[in-house]
Amino acid sequence: MLLVLAASLVVLLVVLATLQYRWLGQVSAAERERMQGTLSAGAARFAQDFDRELGRVYFNLKLDASAWRARDADAYAARFDQWRASAPHPRLVGDVYVVDAGDAGAEPQLTRFDPATRKFVDAAWPAAFAALRRRFASAREQHAAHASPPERDLAGAGLYAPQPNVDQEIPAVIIPVVPDVIVPADGVGRPWQPPVLGDENKLVLTNYSPLSTYVVVALDLDYIKGELWPALARRYFSSGDKLDYRVAVVDRSDPRRTLYQSAPDAPEAAASSSAGDARADIFQIRFDEMDAFLPSFVSRRVREEQTAAGASSSPESRGKKLSVRVFESRTSEMAVRRVLSTETRTGGLQLVVTHVAGSLDAAVGQARRRSLLVSFGILLLLAGSVALIFVSTHRAQRLARRQVEFVAGVTHELRTPLAVICSAGENLADGVIDDRRQVRRYGEVIHSEGRRLAEMVEQVLEFAGAQSGRREFKLAPVAVESLIDAALASCRAGAQGGDSGFEFERDVPAHLPHVMADASALARSLQNLISNALKYGGESRWVKLSARAVGDAKREVRIKVEDRGAGIAPGDLPHIFEPFYRGREVVAAQIHGNGLGLSLVKQIVEAHGGRVSVESEPGRGSAFTIHLPAASNGADANGNGTHAGRGDDV
Ligand code: ADP
Repeated sequence: MLLVLAASLVVLLVVLATLQYRWLGQVSAAERERMQGTLSAGAARFAQDFDRELGRVYFNLKLDASAWRARDADAYAARFDQWRASAPHPRLVGDVYVVDAGDAGAEPQLTRFDPATRKFVDAAWPAAFAALRRRFASAREQHAAHASPPERDLAGAGLYAPQPNVDQEIPAVIIPVVPDVIVPADGVGRPWQPPVLGDENKLVLTNYSPLSTYVVVALDLDYIKGELWPALARRYFSSGDKLDYRVAVVDRSDPRRTLYQSAPDAPEAAASSSAGDARADIFQIRFDEMDAFLPSFVSRRVREEQTAAGASSSPESRGKKLSVRVFESRTSEMAVRRVLSTETRTGGLQLVVTHVAGSLDAAVGQARRRSLLVSFGILLLLAGSVALIFVSTHRAQRLARRQVEFVAGVTHELRTPLAVICSAGENLADGVIDDRRQVRRYGEVIHSEGRRLAEMVEQVLEFAGAQSGRREFKLAPVAVESLIDAALASCRAGAQGGDSGFEFERDVPAHLPHVMADASALARSLQNLISNALKYGGESRWVKLSARAVGDAKREVRIKVEDRGAGIAPGDLPHIFEPFYRGREVVAAQIHGNGLGLSLVKQIVEAHGGRVSVESEPGRGSAFTIHLPAASNGADANGNGTHAGRGDDV
């Protein structure tokens, strides 16, 4: 029954463990998906937030074509100041330049807007502008080489090689300088003429001056790296005050160029296209999302043209989509339309986000392993407790059985002497026996049976006392010789009236060291061993008592009790010192006893700081040895101590 219960508990545990394993797998997969979703959204928001700042710059730091033609810096300075007062991140902007490609054949010119003096001043090309400068120069060359008269308008509009809106090398925001188109409110007069790349390769763009001038707003990369990006990283990728992810910004066109890393140990490989748990394009003007940020003068977007560049356009721009965005603002008298963008190109940078654990999979795997460890630990604990309950139940059952056997054994042992005493007493009382010799014999029988009874009661009482753990031994230096003699004498007296024909051999050298002992308790132990030797000694009727001092400086005294009896079966040997344990053959042979003798010997000897050992060979006899520490000289002279005897575990 108990086995069935145990087996079903084991099966239940295995089923639970399997289910736990599976569910944790599913939970991890779901968690992985959730984290991926949150992360991708975070990366997109990070890029969006940053690009929004670029958009603010793009729309607010525009330079009017007419103002530029007149080199009127005041109007631009007013716009700049206004932007700086209202922008959430004014430090984003470093220097502001104007690049004018100028007339055909001429070199592009660079002018800087100086906010302090509110003037445009000539500037030398900074090193970071090299690529930008080359782009401008080649645009000029191309349009000079390719433009035939009808196309010249097109080329003149600068649409051959429109500049991108951003430049990640500098980095900078690039804003075309485009004149406003003024349309009377009634719409009559000069209707809006969108730039058209038509069948005839003719661009009707009468109101435009060539798109050869651009404002280049250089951004402060140190501010971006030191404040803007870290703040965004904290907003989207941290829990508490630590980043859960490593954030890097890399150049898509040059994978080895990493502009920013949130942690110094962020993987170098961030640039490789497979790295990172989430990626997002960053550093672009997002016209589609800009409506909310358009400056007040733009009320709506009126037109978005997208057309393939004509066949006659330069090889570079052929096949490219050309996109022109026109925004309009209206007053009661007129509408002002302006081209705000001529080309869409995604930014050249990419945001790469990687979990600090190495990857999202690694992080989820780690969490899964941790949960598995905890839940399997709990299951293991459960299994251990169940096993413990089984073991202790088993032990309790065994003990209970032994105690029942003990009670039965003791009662049985008591019955025989009691019956003998009763019948002998009865015979005497009845006057059946009048012969003096017989009366003496009856007296001896009553005496020896009474003694056996008393011994048994003594042993049971002693065992109960040892179990309670309150027993104390009064230790004093004792001569081994006297101990042995006392035990022998009392055994001789008890051995079936002293005439049982036992041969006692005694081998005790003179001058043995004393031992610290409670003389009466130790003598009783010896007595137990001797009476066992008598009881189980069989036909040989021979008992030998010997003592030796052994070890360095004779530190240990050994007292040995030998017999040539039946010996002890190997199966019984490990158990004979357990309380209530009796050898199987002994029980079968109905030799009287209660299984307490050796356990008492063991307890007493151990309370003296010693131990008991046994050697036995079935059929040849047994030898029990008491090992005791010799009393030191000081203790020998005047030592006196107390040892508490503890009950051994049952
Ligand atoms: P008891 O003698 O009352 O059975 P003990 O604790 O003294 O209890 O002994 C436990 C068991 O050890 C005995 O039942 C017996 O099987 C075995 N035993 C003890 N001493 C001897 C011995 N001298 N020879 C053989 N067997 C012994």
